[in-house]
Amino acid sequence: AGGNAVVIGGGLLGLEAAEGLRKQGQNKNGMQVSLIQRDDRLMNRQLDITAARLLEAELRSRGLDIFIDAGLDHLTGDDQGRVTGAMLSDGQWLPAECVVVAIGITPNRELGQAAGLEVNRAIVVDETLTSSDSAIHALGECCEFQGNTFGLVEPIWKQVEVLAAHLAGEPTTGYVETPCATKLKVSGVSLYAFGPTEAEPDHDVLTYRDPLQGDYRRLLLHDGRIVGAVLYGDTAMGPWYFEHSLAGTDLGPCRQALLLGAADADALLHEHANPDSPESPVKEAA
Ligand SMILES: Cc1cc2nc3c(=O)[nH]c(=O)nc-3n(C[C@H](O)[C@H](O)[C@H](O)COP(=O)(O)OP(=O)(O)OC[C@H]3O[C@@H](n4cnc5c(N)ncnc54)[C@H](O)[C@@H]3O)c2cc1C
Repeated sequence: AGGNAVVIGGGLLGLEAAEGLRKQGQNKNGMQVSLIQRDDRLMNRQLDITAARLLEAELRSRGLDIFIDAGLDHLTGDDQGRVTGAMLSDGQWLPAECVVVAIGITPNRELGQAAGLEVNRAIVVDETLTSSDSAIHALGECCEFQGNTFGLVEPIWKQVEVLAAHLAGEPTTGYVETPCATKLKVSGVSLYAFGPTEAEPDHDVLTYRDPLQGDYRRLLLHDGRIVGAVLYGDTAMGPWYFEHSLAGTDLGPCRQALLLGAADADALLHEHANPDSPESPVKEAA
């Protein structure tokens, strides 16, 4: 009963593990869970600093101890070989009977290397998931395509389809990297994100914030097209943004409604595409 757990890594899986442990602990006289994040924010690969701080505040309010910008120096153990805690780089020691490490994947590339395949961080493949040996294919976390490795199922499912078609001799356009949208599976926290976390100088940044409701939305646009979104709280618009981002829709005509809702934005897009349509909203007299 009770006890302490330390989760190392403040990415998607670390957060899900930490919150899962904390909830388990609730039924066992309170397990205290600490989360160590090396970066300056939680989910640094998906969130901007504002959304990350909102998430952090929510998780802290639930009882998670969160250490940002914190490094693990080493784990401590007893003479039975059991873990007793985590020593941070700043000398702080966190007691723990359970440690979860969720710091991302590092493919074991040695197998590919030993087979004489071209490897970099993982087994290098082309758009048909073929390695440097045309009789050997690789997909999933062990492959590297155009310098990227993979740690989520969505792109891997696409790789499966391409490789299956290729092996069956069916025509395929080949594997193409497409952006993935991220959702966090922590109950009571709604979060949706895709694209870059930071704005580039040529990005148009639209933000909406309602501190009372705990809502935050930030869109990055380039030439009227959405290239990235971070939504915290009300995430209903997430799939709409993602769909239009993938389609490369010029959303200039509905820019002023983009943060408000799909109905308003769609109406303006429709009006722009069909200026004489009777269904278009009545224009206000000048
Ligand atoms: C706790 C956890 C939660 C996750 N949650 C999500 C999520 O919510 N959403 C998401 O998109 N992704 C999630 N992921 C990531 C996702 O599971 C992986 O990206 C995905 O499973 C990778 O698929 P894969 O086939 O490349 O590897 P794996 O699913 O790991 O499959 C590899 C298989 O190969 C076997 N194997 C290994 N070596 C050999 C060998 N030499 N010979 C024969 N067999 C071998 C292994 O035993 C394993 O069964 C999660 C991962 C973890 C660990």
